Amino acid sequence: MELVDKYLASLDEPKKEWVTSMVNFMREVFPDVKESLSNKIPTYNGEGYFIAFAAQKNYFTFHTDDMMDACKEIVDHHKSMQSPRVSDIKALKKWSKVPLNVQALLVGNVFCSKCGVTTIVDYGIHEDRFGVVLNGFCQKCGGRVARIVEDC
Ligand SMILES: [Zn+2]
Repeated sequence: MELVDKYLASLDEPKKEWVTSMVNFMREVFPDVKESLSNKIPTYNGEGYFIAFAAQKNYFTFHTDDMMDACKEIVDHHKSMQSPRVSDIKALKKWSKVPLNVQALLVGNVFCSKCGVTTIVDYGIHEDRFGVVLNGFCQKCGGRVARIVEDC
C-alpha cells in the first residue's frame, strides 16, 4: 500500500488523477483484494486473476467509469465462481422480494448445456449488472448452471 502511494505521488497529471481514482476505487470497493506494486504498476491480485493499472500513455482510451464497472465485474465474477454457495447480501435482499411461487418457477427452469431444462440446486445468489444471478448446480448431472433473474 505504501509503495503504491509513493508511486502515485511520483506521477504527473493527468496520469496521477486517473491512476489515483482507480486505486481508490479498488481500495474502497474491494479492500480484501491484495494490492501490490508490480513492475511499477499498481496491481490487484485475486485468486486466479489480477488487475493492473498502467498509466504509460498521455491519454486513456477507457473512460474511468467504464473501467470501474469492468473491474467490479471481473472481481464479482471470480468471487461468484470460487464460492457459488456464498450469497451477496444485496442480491439476497433483492431475491427475497421475488414472490415464492416465482422463485420456484425460476429455480425449476434453468438451462443446463447437457440436460436442457433442469432444476438448479445448491445455489448462491449474486448481483449482476442485469439483476440477480443464481449460481449453482444441475440437479440431474451436477454440472455448473446459472440463472439470471432480470429486473430483480
Ligand atoms: Zn445437467
